[in-house]
Amino acid sequence: MQLINGKEVAKATRDKVKGDITEFFKEKGRIPCLAVIIVGSDSASQTYVKNKILGCEEVGMKSLSYTESESATNEHIAAIITKLASDNTVDGILVQLPLPKHLDERYLLSLIPDSKDVDGFSPNNLGLLAMNTPRTISCTPFGVMELLASTGVDIAGKHAVIIGRSNTVGKPMAMLLLNADATVTVCHSKTVNLKQITSQADILIAAIGRPNFVTADMVKSGAIVIDVGINRVDGKLCGDVDFAAVSEKCSYITPVPGGVGPMTISMLLSNTLMAAKYE
Ligand code: NAP
Repeated sequence: MQLINGKEVAKATRDKVKGDITEFFKEKGRIPCLAVIIVGSDSASQTYVKNKILGCEEVGMKSLSYTESESATNEHIAAIITKLASDNTVDGILVQLPLPKHLDERYLLSLIPDSKDVDGFSPNNLGLLAMNTPRTISCTPFGVMELLASTGVDIAGKHAVIIGRSNTVGKPMAMLLLNADATVTVCHSKTVNLKQITSQADILIAAIGRPNFVTADMVKSGAIVIDVGINRVDGKLCGDVDFAAVSEKCSYITPVPGGVGPMTISMLLSNTLMAAKYE
């Protein structure tokens, strides 16, 4: 088994973004800017936002951070997004999810122009990906594709099985793998005989949100296993895959932490730079 080192791959991406930002500055006389809006005090969300801002600093990108109270209204958040949307010096707008329940997530996200949707969550950006003419690709699945590329294994013709069908991870993941000529199966909570399906996977992607859900008997010998899950058990981070047992059986595996997580932020920085170049 070989470990896919997400930290290393993520660093290579960040180094490239950093170099490209220097070039961008020489050409345009400004640096790309990412605006991040967080509402409420969810500790996991605060950590994600902190890491995104640190990521910006690391590559020399400008960032703006809006920390709004748990009781903020739709009108208040909408006003911030609308202002950022029309600001030519802001290239990317990210609203950290989940939002407090009283806020209308769909409406608020719809206020982000497609060109500044650096998360790749907008219907147009997802639609372009589905048509294999992508513009901005969701950061986490995009990062998974970079990790797969780092193995040097050809994806074409492989059977890829994804557990999870969220709009942010599972579905764009399926489209990316399909666009890369894999044969794709998407599983979810209503899937019957899950083990039978996952044990046929050459590439198995777990995006469920349940600690140690994928056990060794669900995995084909020699499979590539990508663990997207981030779970906290007794204060410690773990993925959706029973790492100790599955790593005995697979050819490649991502650890948690240090696998998909660092890639998500690198791809966000890359998407923001790309958004700046589009203007
Ligand atoms: P989500 O929206 O909750 O989706 C979870 C998916 O798992 C759903 O499609 C659900 O099926 C499926 N599922 C739940 N229980 C199942 C079961 N028993 N058998 C088969 N499928 C089952 O979660 P998400 O946003 O996609 O995130 C998934 C995980 O990835 C979470 O742990 C999250 O924290 C993590 N994540 C990590 C990163 C990163 O940067 N590393 C980024 C994003 C997310 P239904 O659709 O039928 O409900």
